[in-house]
Amino acid sequence: MIESYIKSGKIVSKIRSEASKLIKNGLPVIELVEYVENEIIKSGAGIAFPCNVSINEISAHYTSPLDDKTKLVTGDLVKLDLGAEIDGYIADSAVTVMVTGDNLEELFSEEEIELRNNLITASADGLEAAISTVKDGVEIGKIGHAVEDAIRKHKFNPITNLTGHSLEQWNLHAGLSIPNYNNNDTTKLKEGQAIAIEPFATNGVGYVNDVPGTYIYSFMKNKPFRMAQTTKVLKYIQKNHPSLPFSGRWLSKEFNDVRLQMAMKQLSEAMAIYPYHPLKEKSGGLVSQKEHTIIVEKDGCTVTTL
Ligand code: MN
Ligand code: MN
Repeated sequence: MIESYIKSGKIVSKIRSEASKLIKNGLPVIELVEYVENEIIKSGAGIAFPCNVSINEISAHYTSPLDDKTKLVTGDLVKLDLGAEIDGYIADSAVTVMVTGDNLEELFSEEEIELRNNLITASADGLEAAISTVKDGVEIGKIGHAVEDAIRKHKFNPITNLTGHSLEQWNLHAGLSIPNYNNNDTTKLKEGQAIAIEPFATNGVGYVNDVPGTYIYSFMKNKPFRMAQTTKVLKYIQKNHPSLPFSGRWLSKEFNDVRLQMAMKQLSEAMAIYPYHPLKEKSGGLVSQKEHTIIVEKDGCTVTTL
């Protein structure tokens, strides 16, 4: 088990750093997500969830649809969040990169550039502070306190309704939530647990809301549907993505588009599948994120995605 966590962690770490180097002005987002997902498959691992590329005030849960025309633009604060699994043991990691280029100084003031760099540092400091508290017996609220403290030192807010999470085999969100502020949760971490810690820092109010659009889904339950196409899509999902999140883009390669969209709508409304909507910072603030997967040990922890 630990070996599989270490193996998936190494894969994610390598692809995260290689993909980060591709981030530049004009890069189509779909090229970035497909690069990441193809590299995961090539490495011999499975994709634990669609590669998320969330830009500026969008905090999470955006991945390209098949016809995505979105391109990265100079000054964008790009959150790249990826996951791989070996035998169902998941590595989940994210990094924030500012799109730079020759024209950065022409388009943005020194203050605007500094703001973006400070946001990147704030979520990184939050993650480092959180990791230094992790060991057998630490209270979950204490981890959140460390994150909050580090982010507030930079005069930013942590996003309070986004959390890290425990991981189990084939289960990305396995029950425990690791907050980005002190929520006074006295639940204690135990040796051997796998958790993802993911501080989000913002110059906004620190709260996210759903916005329209759905690009990522999870299978929930089997149900009868009158339309044959809807049943067919659900059967395909249950067979190929029974436990981990999947993207609409992957299904677009298997099914006719108009009928697929109708089926996905029906499946979501009936809660046969769960639709994740992109999450936008409530006040339109810029958002940075950094995430690592960690195994809790008696006197500390191992970061698998370092
Ligand atoms: Mn993640
Ligand atoms: Mn995560």
